[in-house]
Amino acid sequence: MTRYLDELDVMMVEEGFTTRDLLESLLLKVAQTVRTKTIAFFVANLENVVKKHVRLLKALPRVKPFYPLKCNGSKGVVQMLAGLGAGFSCTSKTEMAVVKSIGVPPERIICTSPCKQISLIRYAASQGVRLMTFDNEVELGKVARRYPSARMILQLATDDFRSSNHLSVKFGATLKTCRHLLEIAKQMNIEVAGISFHVGSSCADPQIFTQSIADAHLVMEMGAELGYKMHLLDIGGGLPSAEESRRRFEETAAVINSALDLYFPEGCGVEILAELGRYYVNSAFTLVVNIIAKKEVPLDQPGPDEEEPDGKKSFVYHINDGVYGSLGSVIFSNICPIPILPKKPPPDLPLHSSSFRGPTGDGLDRIADGLELPELQVGDWLIFENMGAHTVLAPSSFQGSQPAQIHYAMSRMAW
Ligand SMILES: *Cc1c(COP(=O)(O)O)cnc(C)c1O
Repeated sequence: MTRYLDELDVMMVEEGFTTRDLLESLLLKVAQTVRTKTIAFFVANLENVVKKHVRLLKALPRVKPFYPLKCNGSKGVVQMLAGLGAGFSCTSKTEMAVVKSIGVPPERIICTSPCKQISLIRYAASQGVRLMTFDNEVELGKVARRYPSARMILQLATDDFRSSNHLSVKFGATLKTCRHLLEIAKQMNIEVAGISFHVGSSCADPQIFTQSIADAHLVMEMGAELGYKMHLLDIGGGLPSAEESRRRFEETAAVINSALDLYFPEGCGVEILAELGRYYVNSAFTLVVNIIAKKEVPLDQPGPDEEEPDGKKSFVYHINDGVYGSLGSVIFSNICPIPILPKKPPPDLPLHSSSFRGPTGDGLDRIADGLELPELQVGDWLIFENMGAHTVLAPSSFQGSQPAQIHYAMSRMAW
């Protein structure tokens, strides 16, 4: 385990800590490492990642997790999950290089973009990473020419209209085209080792898993008629992350378990994988930002029956990170993040309408509108919780602007 965690700078803290508790010492640390004192940064609670892993193994005992780096490719998360024995799913050469660089063996890596750059196929071949997904004929041709010993996984489309973003619009073969794709693969002499699907992020309807697992079973039987012996089922991601959605997690896990027992009973020779991203990282990361500018603006006119509380004002604050930086998930996940203040404000302070903008001045760089908060000042710090998913890329994916620093923390006990 610790072999993967070499060279990672982790703060040892009390169990049950919050970013709020650590803020003072963190600000000191930030001031020592960077010249400007007001840089936005993340605090990553690696203990939270470990807890998620343990909970997953309990809730879905037959499922082997493969963590998708596209969700958050930070070094600490990848090293921690490697240490815990997880596999990884990669959609680019950069991501695969990160996983290889810490010594994860090729059998624990899947290449999961169904539409791959040729450079990724070549790199996977050079590294012995044989598992890769596809959902179209052209992709089979690309792989047949450059990596004939690859083991392909056919990705199915799912009915993901209830998820918060709709991936099947982009990826996945429909049931109608599966037989054709399997026949083409056979002609090209390519191995098809399994089936995958992804229900989309934060899936609200667990029954989509049942339907998709049933579909996967059907396509495996189709494959068997053509002489394939498939032995992998990858049920993708889509499980919720936050503590608040724990019940939804348990419910979804129960639905998955019974669908697996029905269609892929124990001993059927099919290994089950999942690619859980948001589940692992979202609640582990908080973002700490600084207010860089402040403007008082006219209050919206109250409606005829509404009474305007005395002394209420309206402020627009600009902060030092935005949707083109660490808060891009505001657009991606369509959420309005609500900042918390480093110190709980006294309950009798007047509240004002408060909106937040990123640093760019671009109209799209809007983070939140009309929140009720006490008056804040330039230089104040704010904390955004649950910022782990789709906010941090793999280390070398950045071009140009400097990404927010990440400070890892964990209690000695969990370590
Ligand atoms: C992004 C992605 C996932 C991870 O989804 P989460 O909702 O973050 O768990 C899984 N599978 C595929 C194919 C993906 O593209």
